[in-house]
Amino acid sequence: MYDVTIVGTGPAGLYAAFYSGLRGMKTKLIDSQAVLGGKIHAYPEKMIWDVGGMPPLLGEQLITHLSEQAVLFDPTVVLNSKVEGISQQDDGFLLSTENGENHSTKTVILATGSGILTPKKVGLPEEERFVHTNLHYTVKSLARFKDKAVLISGGGKSAVDWANTLEPIAKKVYVTYRKDHFTGHEADIQKLLDSSVEVIYESVITGLNGTEKIESVTLNHTEQLPVEEVIINHGYDIQNDLIEKSDVVINMHPEYGIQGTSMGETSVPGIYGAGDAINYDGKVNLIAGAFHDAANAVNRAKQFIEPTAVKTAMVSSHHESFKTKNKKIYAELEL
Ligand SMILES: Cc1cc2nc3c(=O)[nH]c(=O)nc-3n(C[C@H](O)[C@H](O)[C@H](O)COP(=O)(O)OP(=O)(O)OC[C@H]3O[C@@H](n4cnc5c(N)ncnc54)[C@H](O)[C@@H]3O)c2cc1C
Repeated sequence: MYDVTIVGTGPAGLYAAFYSGLRGMKTKLIDSQAVLGGKIHAYPEKMIWDVGGMPPLLGEQLITHLSEQAVLFDPTVVLNSKVEGISQQDDGFLLSTENGENHSTKTVILATGSGILTPKKVGLPEEERFVHTNLHYTVKSLARFKDKAVLISGGGKSAVDWANTLEPIAKKVYVTYRKDHFTGHEADIQKLLDSSVEVIYESVITGLNGTEKIESVTLNHTEQLPVEEVIINHGYDIQNDLIEKSDVVINMHPEYGIQGTSMGETSVPGIYGAGDAINYDGKVNLIAGAFHDAANAVNRAKQFIEPTAVKTAMVSSHHESFKTKNKKIYAELEL
């Protein structure tokens, strides 16, 4: 029996795991994805500037820092496991997963963001053959595209953004788009149109040609375009059915997410929310806001289990748990 089970390992879930460890709670983290980090995996190569006190850092770097912090107190981590239902038990809750597992827990923190995001595919039978070579659904490393002929498929904000970012790095950038003009951020579109990027309007990918790697793509069943890397930027399919499928009845906000309080409470005592999953007056939809939510949700979960527990954890600078670790760091700093 765990004190708290956190569903979702984005910034909210990872920080909640750290903070619940700080509060001495037996913690489990569950995510449907194979890796920790949540939505930040959609932009690993972007610079993030607005996390308080952190220098500008890549999404990938933030995932590493958050993950290291999250496992500091050894939570149990369950990956590749989609939670499909929550039911109330005498002593807490039972979470059931798509792959048939059951997880018992005294409290739950829903840090599920806007759901499970899966990049939309082109829908061609040969697609799977190239996903481990030169077909990408997100840009993980800019260096990979240096001096290459790159085709980006898509016309949304993200596709335009990647085309502008890769233009000075790649040998040539093509954008294939099914419509005859872009809609979105005007300045970004103008930058793209004024650059060396070649836009092929009213075209869709109808074939990916090559054996191990894509060597060319077929557009509109006719034109063959030789390319070295292909980026598909068609948006995401979102699965967000956990609450709908659960036996417990959790009230939803009329606009988006779970209707909660600024303390992370939902309509079900013992179930809390943090990050993009929850909505309340004054909500900050930033990574920084997810951390704040996570600490509140953990504190409420702690008090649910132990009503006499203090409202918040001791600050880290004076926390007993760090004494040994601090000694080591001070020694390394020769202080
Ligand atoms: C392109 C882009 C750029 C951004 N840039 C910034 C920025 O610069 N600064 C900033 O502060 N914010 C930025 N954001 C917003 C930020 O990423 C989110 O606010 C943040 O990731 C929310 O964290 P979260 O933990 O609440 O949810 P998420 O990061 O969405 O994580 C939710 C996790 O829950 C898992 N999950 C969902 N349902 C289930 C289920 N049923 N079972 C198991 N697992 C489940 C998902 O797989 C996912 O891993 C950006 C967002 C995007 C899309």
